[in-house]
Amino acid sequence: MGTLFRGGILLGSGQALQGDLLVEGERVAAAGGSIASAGHDVVDCSGLYVMPGGVDVHTHLDMPLTGTASNDDFETGGRAAAFGGTTTVLDFAVQPRGGTLAEALALWQRKAARAVIDYGFHMTITDARDDVLAEIPAVRAAGITSLKVLMAYKGRIMVDDTALFKTLRAARQHDMLVMVHCENGDVEHLLRHELLAAGKTEPVYHAASRPPEIEGEATNRAAMMAGLTGCPLYVVHVTCAPAVEALRRARALGYPVMGESCVQYFHLTVDDHLAQPDFQGAKYVCSPPVRTRRDHDVLWDAVADGALQVVSTDHCPFWLAGGVGPWREWAAAHDDHQWPEYEAQDPTYRRPGKELGRGDFSLMPNGLPGIEDRLLVMWHSGVNGGRITPERFVELHSANPARIFGLYPRKGALQPGSDADIVLWDPHQTRTISAASHHMRVDYNCYEGMTVQGGPVQVYLRGRKVVDGDRWLGERGAGRYLARTASPVVL
Ligand code: MN
Ligand code: MN
Repeated sequence: MGTLFRGGILLGSGQALQGDLLVEGERVAAAGGSIASAGHDVVDCSGLYVMPGGVDVHTHLDMPLTGTASNDDFETGGRAAAFGGTTTVLDFAVQPRGGTLAEALALWQRKAARAVIDYGFHMTITDARDDVLAEIPAVRAAGITSLKVLMAYKGRIMVDDTALFKTLRAARQHDMLVMVHCENGDVEHLLRHELLAAGKTEPVYHAASRPPEIEGEATNRAAMMAGLTGCPLYVVHVTCAPAVEALRRARALGYPVMGESCVQYFHLTVDDHLAQPDFQGAKYVCSPPVRTRRDHDVLWDAVADGALQVVSTDHCPFWLAGGVGPWREWAAAHDDHQWPEYEAQDPTYRRPGKELGRGDFSLMPNGLPGIEDRLLVMWHSGVNGGRITPERFVELHSANPARIFGLYPRKGALQPGSDADIVLWDPHQTRTISAASHHMRVDYNCYEGMTVQGGPVQVYLRGRKVVDGDRWLGERGAGRYLARTASPVVL
């Protein structure tokens, strides 16, 4: 006996069509047309879209960085994701300073033991020593087919052009894809110090230290390296015309380059958000920075016409009012990986957050919450706003990330044999987004007060209902590791 999703509009297998979907065990057994009920449990889906669970390929769960760690772990972040219709995440395992990729993998496997939705890893290389590049075959054997490097954060985790080139060349040799954070870290470093020396320390100056051209320059450089090496390139968090145009040019030359943007870059601006007084702008500090309304239009055009293939989140939340409790003493005595253990002992405790950057924007932890908001906000602005079709919505948020990162059609599709990760989406439901009702572990929401139409009413993970309205039915540890083997796909 299976579960029959009856009479919904099926998305995720080409054009949307009204039809039934049959799930048996953890998989889709049949999709489309009329399926006899034959003793199955029937879920009435009339008036609802039936779509594959969202796939968010850019998250930072429980990620340590200087002086703190991101708030959401694989349990809280995964639950919030599911409430927003996302059932798969690919998170970045990060090579520790001076450490190895094997250490990063072991650390992230430990973090992910709490996972409530399915997950995989990318491997971030922060120091491309020869012995580290020699670990790449072992990384691939562990089911990780994507590497990441950063052209920003000079003096910390920035790779120079030699390391970028070597990483792309090694990835190509082992049939992997490279994700790159594209900003010119040398110029950013100089501008940042000049601004701070001039007393420009408020959150809004974070944007002045990272103008669009340094993103465009680095995107172009990475794209040319992709052409040079033949290695598939995926540029993360594209925000502006100089970067989009660099990708368009490289694609026109036949280079294997792709790009994503993130939900915040379609909605937030320097003037309306980052420039808010009384340290409220700190909520919106991320890198690259949020831009302007004109850039929003550039990005909507790019996701509509295929210059960009994916929308993700870069989910990396920090308390606005963090640092409650004796955290300075704690920080002095422990390494960053132990924040959650301390918080488990003392529920009133909060690790440090955005206040680390009060008086110096460059010390602020970079990142925003968004894992729960992505589908809600993008459907409202994108589909209701007439920018993209429901079919394109599913491609951008589920099918394309699954294809590019070797998960399709297990994820990102509702075909016979696909995992039964299913979102029942009511296009008429309305809700007002608020930190008071969201499930992310953070004390603000970037879209606070925004009323959106369309949202999930039920969410299933491999055939099992995990979200039913306001109710959480998932389970710690039930998320499954997705070992990836397929070659990267260039869309
Ligand atoms: Mn980044
Ligand atoms: Mn990121």
